Amino acid sequence: MSGTAPDGGLYVPEILPVRTIDEFAGVERFDEISALWLQPFFSGSSLQAELPAVCSEALNFPVPLKSIGQGNDTFSVLELFHGPTAAFKDVGARFLAATMVRIIDTGATGKTPVTIIVATSGDTGGAVAAAYHRRPGVRVMVLFPDGRVSPRQQHQLTCWGDNIISLAVRGEFDDCQRLAKEALADREISARHNLCSANSINVGRLLPQSAYYARASLEIFRNSGKKASFVIPTGNLGNGLACVWARRMGMPIENIVFATNANTTIPDYLSSGSWSPRASIATLASAMDVGNPSNMERLRLLNDDNAEQVRQEISAFPVTDETIRETIAEEYRRYGIAWCPHTATALHVYRNLPQSVRRTGNWVVVATAHAAKFDTIVEPLLGAEITPPAELAALLKWPAQYDTVSASLDEITAYL
Ligand SMILES: *Cc1c(COP(=O)(O)O)cnc(C)c1O
Repeated sequence: MSGTAPDGGLYVPEILPVRTIDEFAGVERFDEISALWLQPFFSGSSLQAELPAVCSEALNFPVPLKSIGQGNDTFSVLELFHGPTAAFKDVGARFLAATMVRIIDTGATGKTPVTIIVATSGDTGGAVAAAYHRRPGVRVMVLFPDGRVSPRQQHQLTCWGDNIISLAVRGEFDDCQRLAKEALADREISARHNLCSANSINVGRLLPQSAYYARASLEIFRNSGKKASFVIPTGNLGNGLACVWARRMGMPIENIVFATNANTTIPDYLSSGSWSPRASIATLASAMDVGNPSNMERLRLLNDDNAEQVRQEISAFPVTDETIRETIAEEYRRYGIAWCPHTATALHVYRNLPQSVRRTGNWVVVATAHAAKFDTIVEPLLGAEITPPAELAALLKWPAQYDTVSASLDEITAYL
């Protein structure tokens, strides 16, 4: 329930239980694999018996692996954008929501509702709002940076009403995150409004994300007898860390490669060996505009804070906006597929791996959002329109309702 530990640090599992491939024999559905996969983390908790129900309620959409290309250049794409808000954040947000509503007493009348406060760079807020919309006993306050999210992302942050309060904050994502942290850390405000966080640093979002890496690598191993290698679009490193955890837990995963945008804190750390977080830069892949990736702390902990060891575990390559544009246009021209700017970073990194590495591996490019969410960037590059998936199209018809506020704690608490 508490996103960060009382000492300000991040929670991590004390142990990462090692599983065998055989334990998953005959289990194929994403929700069923997830329930089995997550079981050790829930043993002894009040949610243990509920875990299968949590997974079937929250993870009720496919995470398909699709094969692309021909001959030597075949690779797979893991499509994580088939949830209600068309980005991978649906996995963690829906799982967390399904567990939280089972813990908090949402039914009692006259009780102060729990308010979940979430700062978003674009996709998290929509996924969290969708996951809690019209849930009794819960409200959500979404803080997003005014003018820094795509129009369709903004619509997904603001179309809910009911128990969802959407605020455009004059500032950057970092300001939104600071406000959320300040509100949560202020004992009086936090107690009065029963505040709770749902940000991506919550371990309840990372764990279910590791389940799709388990599912994908098991499928590849069953079909080919070989381990899978992943290229992952990376910002705050929640998605990438989930893959590292899955490999540590015994899944058949070989290489893990991160693709970043012009926010190069992680690749710079790998080349220099020193960690220097900085302010974020706005890019086309805006959901990855993170200058101080929180989950790096967890990755460094796993590796005794030793940069050389981290280099053995993962690699990371930055991609410029210009290359993102070229990749989107080129992939569409050559293969007829439209990708979002985040996914494009990973495609570029994959296509530029040394040929020997590329051809010997069983590569999976992770697709984090549907291109239709970023229509204003992608469509002009294609010269074509992208049809939004049905659920996104339905949301786009709902009217938007939100207020614009300055980045001050007083202003946002007034809305509580
Ligand atoms: C959040 C997000 C990312 C970055 O994921 P992290 O877990 O923050 O590294 C990449 N692509 C999309 C579409 C996102 O919404």
